[in-house]
Amino acid sequence: MSTSAEPLVQVRDLVKHFPISRGIVFQRQIGAVKAVDGVSFDIRRGETLGIVGETGCGKSTTARLLVRLLDPTSGTVLLEGEDIAQRKGAGLKALHRDMQMIFQDPYSSLNPRKTIGSIIADPFVIHGLHREEGERKKRVQDLMDRVGLNPEHYNRYPHEFSGGQRQRIGVARAIALQPKLLIADEPVSALDVSIQAQVLNLLRELQREMGLTLVFIAHDLSVVRHMCDRVAVMYLGKLVELAPNESLYGFPRHPYTGALLSAVPVPDPSGGKRERQLLSGDVPSPANPPSACRFHTRCPKAQELCATEEPPLEEKGRQTLAACHFPLTEDEVRLRLPAALSAAK
Ligand code: SF4
Repeated sequence: MSTSAEPLVQVRDLVKHFPISRGIVFQRQIGAVKAVDGVSFDIRRGETLGIVGETGCGKSTTARLLVRLLDPTSGTVLLEGEDIAQRKGAGLKALHRDMQMIFQDPYSSLNPRKTIGSIIADPFVIHGLHREEGERKKRVQDLMDRVGLNPEHYNRYPHEFSGGQRQRIGVARAIALQPKLLIADEPVSALDVSIQAQVLNLLRELQREMGLTLVFIAHDLSVVRHMCDRVAVMYLGKLVELAPNESLYGFPRHPYTGALLSAVPVPDPSGGKRERQLLSGDVPSPANPPSACRFHTRCPKAQELCATEEPPLEEKGRQTLAACHFPLTEDEVRLRLPAALSAAK
């Protein structure tokens, strides 16, 4: 997959805190949920970037900040070098044309009172494109065909389609304006396992055919494995590892990534023994995250330093960035993830 070196999107020190208030008449802020807390990364043109982490890690909030469905508390998102926070009026409308999103739940993201023809045509209507009805219908039916829906079902309603087909409707609507960036927020997690692969294959095909830049959000590393060029792992509002696909799956450096991978059921071709590293405890509250390294309360490698000094996100070899004072060694990966290192050779 070809990717240009110039980033399409640059995210710098992005922060989103949601205030927690108390009081019925005189509300006062008593704290904040630190959903995203100082995250920086680039999205390269034409790549598929996976963002992975457990529920509450900040991945969906990051997605909404990228497309300005939310405004950040601080930090910037640059699209082709331009700060999207400066977009207003027509500029903001154009931004929503350039950046589209596919949502997790195909059931609630489609208006049940509209035919799918008019749902998919919505972006054309909003942006004043293809005003002539016949032409608009032709464009919508082309899109339906492209995502694997029968164009003759143009006048049907969402309830007449299965979950997988509804997600295809969402995909058709999202690609209608040929966006520069498409964000898929857990697009298959509400679907049956048997349907998931079909929707993933569709997204992969479209990404290749249209040269789309795709951000794919998932809570499970196994889902993004065959989709992504690079993978970012988030934990409690922080980016803890960012690496090319083969490095992340072959030699994860952050203990949290190692634990996530260890939880993925994979056949080990060497037949070797694998020490499953299951995460203990729940994810701490993002309203009161642990000091320094936020993973130290659950990390099997934690030492004193981890609770007092926040590890910077820095290069750990193989183009891998990881935020950890004591990253995984090859021996540890070999013990816990024998299939990973052998697959990487
Ligand atoms: Fe574990 Fe320490 Fe690394 Fe955090 S910095 S992931 S606690 S070893």
